[in-house]
Amino acid sequence: MSNPSILILAGDGIGPEVMGQVTRIIDWFGHKRGLTFDVSEDLVGGAAYDAHGTPLHDDTMAKAQEVDAVLLGAVGGPKYDDLDFSVKPERGLLRLRKEMDLFANLRPAQCFDALADFSSLKKDVVAGLDIMIVRELTSGIYFGEPRGIIEEGNERVGINTQRYTESEIDRVARSAFELARRRGNKVCSMEKANVMESGILWREIVQKVHDEDYPDVELSHMYADAGVMQLCRWPKQFDVIVTDNLFGDLLSDAAAMLTGSLGMLPSASLGAPMANGRPKALYEPVHGSAPDIAGQNKANPIACILSFAMALRYSFDKGDEADRIEKAVENVLANGVRTADLMPSAGETPATTRDMGDAVLAELDKTL
Ligand code: NAD
Repeated sequence: MSNPSILILAGDGIGPEVMGQVTRIIDWFGHKRGLTFDVSEDLVGGAAYDAHGTPLHDDTMAKAQEVDAVLLGAVGGPKYDDLDFSVKPERGLLRLRKEMDLFANLRPAQCFDALADFSSLKKDVVAGLDIMIVRELTSGIYFGEPRGIIEEGNERVGINTQRYTESEIDRVARSAFELARRRGNKVCSMEKANVMESGILWREIVQKVHDEDYPDVELSHMYADAGVMQLCRWPKQFDVIVTDNLFGDLLSDAAAMLTGSLGMLPSASLGAPMANGRPKALYEPVHGSAPDIAGQNKANPIACILSFAMALRYSFDKGDEADRIEKAVENVLANGVRTADLMPSAGETPATTRDMGDAVLAELDKTL
């Protein structure tokens, strides 16, 4: 059996810095846990544009389709702001998501106890929080036709169309139920069935998938606006939330703020299973390329490290090894190690990107 394969696309800005720490952790698993990956690296975003005049070379796209998982750092930066829309760094990332058909975007909102004070909510509301938002990523109002700005009478009209097929709802609902079975076995589906036909269909199909194939999972439905309120009031009532592209965009950003820093948030985007049973998958931190701190060894690598943990869990079926990383991160934070974004106490020197990598590796060693 060949080793599982990973394509690393570190990208721009702090991307290569945070990914550097992930590479050390991947090596650690090879040496200490006998878990070896075939790792290849390539360019995406501005770095690919500089080398090839395109934010994603066709060869890189082809490689991404072949590997078991893609790990991405971040793309973009002021240097590329004036480029034509068609070759902007973000187009590279969008092409990956589109051609790999990554329809389920998983955004965990997990609050490590040591960081509970960072949340804008009260400590007891967020401490120990562990929820997962599954956002439909390839359809809905961001893609529906007709769209555009048209002339109507003596004024202009902006149009976007919310559109979901039964099969698009079905597949993302299945992703959410599968996930729930590996977690707290609860799914809350959110839409606006009170005012939108697409919401009525969404609710009906999610219920049907549940009744036919996942009756063991606890399912509830909520209007998305009420969902945002409940998320702020008592987020621990949720386990997995499944919702469409637009509501998921809003809900996952709101959930992110429950947990504190952008430097802590991982994500996964999953597609259909490949021939080997593993889903098409791209893992990336939620943050961008942070040009304001790029190249300074200041970035927090935890979001990228936790994205690799998600790869272990969802692509490689190594949930116990993912737990190992998450526990190591939790211990590092409990020990008070803080990069600058986690606001170390006054007078303390913040940990560098590499210091944080060292600290996680030291904690991983302790688990052996
Ligand atoms: P950003 O996430 O890059 O940065 C926002 C703020 O958070 C900055 O102050 C930054 O220093 C801080 N920050 C982000 N990640 C951090 C980390 N790991 N450690 C410490 N601090 C961190 O968002 P932005 O400033 O709006 O965008 C910068 C560039 O990144 C733009 O070109 C944007 O298009 C791009 N971007 C890319 C992605 C992606 O690759 N998925 C996502 C968002 C933005």
